[in-house]
Amino acid sequence: MGKIVLKDVTKSFNDVNVIPPLNLEINDGEFVVFVGPSGCGKSTLLRLIAGLEDTSSGHIMIDEKDATNMSPSDRGLAMVFQSYALYPHMTVEKNMGFPLKMAGMSASNIEEKVKAAAETLNLTQYLDRKPGQLSGGQRQRVAIGRAIVRQPSAFLFDEPLSNLDAALRVTMRLEISELHQKLKSTMIYVTHDQVEAMTMADKIVVFNAGNIEQVGTPVELYRTPKNMFVAGFIGSPK
Ligand code: ADP
Ligand code: MG
Repeated sequence: MGKIVLKDVTKSFNDVNVIPPLNLEINDGEFVVFVGPSGCGKSTLLRLIAGLEDTSSGHIMIDEKDATNMSPSDRGLAMVFQSYALYPHMTVEKNMGFPLKMAGMSASNIEEKVKAAAETLNLTQYLDRKPGQLSGGQRQRVAIGRAIVRQPSAFLFDEPLSNLDAALRVTMRLEISELHQKLKSTMIYVTHDQVEAMTMADKIVVFNAGNIEQVGTPVELYRTPKNMFVAGFIGSPK
């Protein structure tokens, strides 16, 4: 579970093309990082995959099914937002259980799922706190926890660490990589930070103004960048 295929996907806003026809295959369990400068369409593409925006044309396949017109909740994916998307008036437990409550799950089932996710993320002792009583890293783990409880086949991260300080970013990078090893789910991780891309990815997709410049492993992109844009972005000597 968690194979995502984009076939000739395009997106325009008011006749302005943001995503030109784009083809991409993401394998089950892969950690894929989308990198590229600000404004190049990374968030838009993630939102298309999540179903938060409609494609202008093309098809999105999830686990061999055409998901192009599926509602976000039917896609089996979970989007992880920055930690400030937490509800400040709700406890950690309520924040993490919220998507399940919306889906109509019983209180006892919600409690069980939230406890399991809290354990995975070392948040068990913080379940009764409000987000304001947590550190930045703990808040980010709660935001991830809210995705985990739904047991999605893929996680979509949109620059989740960009409002954390440098030291915490390093810690959270390791935690997200460990989470990937634990859960073995597909993860698509958007960043404009090449260090995050190089250290976390199985596969990097380099974007430039909606176009894919190159797809490859960190080592491939570093050793054999296809052009100056990729070389410059990845920081390789070529
Ligand atoms: P990135 O995440 O790579 O920084 P985005 O996907 O947010 O880039 O934006 C890509 C382009 O699409 C930008 O030019 C942005 O202004 C435009 N865009 C994004 N969302 C909308 C929208 N809802 N309406 C109009 N233009 C949008
Ligand atoms: Mg963005």
